[in-house]
Amino acid sequence: MSTAAPLPTAPGRADPPRRAVVTGAAGFLGSHLVEELLARGTEVVGLDSFLTGTPQNLAHLSEHPGLRLVRCDITDYVHVPGDVDLVLHFASPASPVDYLKLPIETLKVGSIGTMHALGLAKDKGARLVLASTSEVYGDPQVHPQPEDYWGHVNPVGPRGVYDEAKRYAEALTTAYRQTHGVDTGIVRIFNTFGPRMRPHDGRAIPTFIRQALAGEPLTVAGDGQQTRSVCYVDDLVRGILALAASDHAGPVNIGNPTELTVRQIAEDVIAATGSSSVVEHVGRPVDDPQVRRPDTTLAAAALGWKPEVDWADGLARTVAWFRDAVVPGAGRAVP
Ligand code: NAD
Repeated sequence: MSTAAPLPTAPGRADPPRRAVVTGAAGFLGSHLVEELLARGTEVVGLDSFLTGTPQNLAHLSEHPGLRLVRCDITDYVHVPGDVDLVLHFASPASPVDYLKLPIETLKVGSIGTMHALGLAKDKGARLVLASTSEVYGDPQVHPQPEDYWGHVNPVGPRGVYDEAKRYAEALTTAYRQTHGVDTGIVRIFNTFGPRMRPHDGRAIPTFIRQALAGEPLTVAGDGQQTRSVCYVDDLVRGILALAASDHAGPVNIGNPTELTVRQIAEDVIAATGSSSVVEHVGRPVDDPQVRRPDTTLAAAALGWKPEVDWADGLARTVAWFRDAVVPGAGRAVP
């Protein structure tokens, strides 16, 4: 399934890593990765431009002696003194609202930013894990999507800036592995949800929770019969760190194969919040995928990974966080 040959485990690679660099550390996924790495005893240097993330996501760890958060746009340069065992390259706008507003920034961080992150891994002799995405499959013609499916992407459609940035990043990562022998892994992340998603990031679950808690109608795109597979963030973090600890090149899909219609997601959010909101159907975005479900056979075989948090449990935890951390109406998370 993997397109690049696996490298043998780097001799002397520490597990857990002694020191990791996380790009996009102040974002939704980055902040959860930082938290888990610190919990496992890894020292972390977080790099973030705060373009779509915020230091508030790491405010609860600001006194942690193992964490250094540095403001830095990785498309300018990446410089980290000292040893590094692992680079987790997660910097990129990720929600459609963000990357449609930031098309050039998205292409630059996927291309130049990825080159800088790979350069850092090469200099330090570190393993690098690239955060790729199920969006590389576009509007898929194969269902569920295995890693050897090449995808169905419109390069000049509105989503092309994100999808093609990630496809380029995968190609560049593969080239650094093959040409420079950099120890790389590519993870294709399917829709993930959990605490610290921004209420206005435009993704379905935080939007629905925000709307339900405010008693507003839940805006379902089209007839809502399009499907998404949604993975709770703790499961995703476990999968990414399993890939980081392995010598697998990937790409490896990580996502929850349980498939839900968007309409079902909206109805479940209404039930989980106890809201009296109703569902309202609105126009469907251009090139919105009709179906999405990971084939996770490879993740199970290569990493022994499978999701453990079911949808109802993950939704309850996320709703609880939104109730505590989001100021109603203002749409701002408080630390
Ligand atoms: P996010 O927007 O919350 O986090 C991205 C972080 O990257 C932000 O903190 C942002 O400020 C930072 N960033 C952006 N450009 C930067 C630059 N040039 N230099 C330094 N920092 C920069 O998004 P997220 O949901 O946490 O996604 C993180 C990564 O995972 C992205 O690469 C995304 O493509 C990938 N991914 C996420 C999902 C998901 O469901 N959340 C799915 C597939 C892939």
